[in-house]
Amino acid sequence: MSVRVVARIRPLLKHELDKDTIVCAESAEGQNPTTVRIPNPKNDAETFTFQFGSVYEENATQQQLFENEVVGPTVKHLFNGYDACIFAYGVTGTGKTHTMRGGKSLADRGVIPRLLSNIYRRCRKIEKDAAGATQVDVSLSYFEIYCDRVYDLFEPPEKRTPSGLPIRDNHGKTVVVGLKEMQCSTLKEFEHLYDQANINRSTSATKLNAHSSRSHAVLCVKITQTTESTVRVSQVSAIDLAGSEDNRRTDNNKERLIESSAINKSLFVLAQCVEAISKKQSRIPYRESKMTRILSLGQNNGMTLMILNIAPTRSYHLDTLSSLNFANRTKKI
Ligand code: ADP
Ligand code: MG
Repeated sequence: MSVRVVARIRPLLKHELDKDTIVCAESAEGQNPTTVRIPNPKNDAETFTFQFGSVYEENATQQQLFENEVVGPTVKHLFNGYDACIFAYGVTGTGKTHTMRGGKSLADRGVIPRLLSNIYRRCRKIEKDAAGATQVDVSLSYFEIYCDRVYDLFEPPEKRTPSGLPIRDNHGKTVVVGLKEMQCSTLKEFEHLYDQANINRSTSATKLNAHSSRSHAVLCVKITQTTESTVRVSQVSAIDLAGSEDNRRTDNNKERLIESSAINKSLFVLAQCVEAISKKQSRIPYRESKMTRILSLGQNNGMTLMILNIAPTRSYHLDTLSSLNFANRTKKI
């Protein structure tokens, strides 16, 4: 297994055009950028640099990111029976949802719809090449983890049990008990399910007086390839994590604080897991939050891609720096 870490710097938004840009990408002569440069918050004259597998600048397209980072490394291995995990990490407002889900137009589509489109195309090709001797099935589950509770996004919010769904270990894999698994054999069906689930996510968010930036959204795509004599199962998870901002600075009321500490806890445990794995410690504290149990970073038999989303302006300075530091530790896994 391995973790590849790439950074993506989003463009300035309309209301930011007059703002000070402090983050930039750098590259060696003739190469794609691999370095992010940012000033020291205590001394503007000094800068820090961070190296990643790749750095996507503001003009990078959804298509480029997908083709470079997802198609070759992930989709190919998936069909060879390996698992994969793709997750977006970053402060709220830096482009995680844009990266994973994206917009409505074809060009704006994010990693998830592109991934499914690619998977379905491969399924059809495998079935055709095997002249009916291989059948490929795709099924989906989609849930959010909010305040360390798991809710099925394929269920309407009014059907939720407030305490959420339990999780268990099953043959070394962490599973959510009672989660709906939807057979989904075409891109059209997928789009319909996914859109509806995202509506479930946002309506429940308003009911709970929360924002989707406070929950982790986890989509699992299971691919089963069946022949007369073999069954091969692999899974890719695509995760839009909750905002990584330091909630200690965003005060707020009691309910918000409970949420914040739960979010902080899972991202905090994630950071501890990353630290422990990169130092090759024997005890990795996965079990201390549901998100880390499910993510099981470095535990799957395949490839993990972390996309670090960052905003270029000074208003994000401290949070950007702490994201960069986190990503820097993650890449040592
Ligand atoms: P997050 O999910 O991290 O909170 P969003 O994905 O909602 O952030 O992005 C915040 C805003 O920035 C949205 O309006 C989004 O459309 C815009 N945005 C983010 N990344 C890009 C990008 N690469 N190109 C254009 N707009 C972007
Ligand atoms: Mg978002």
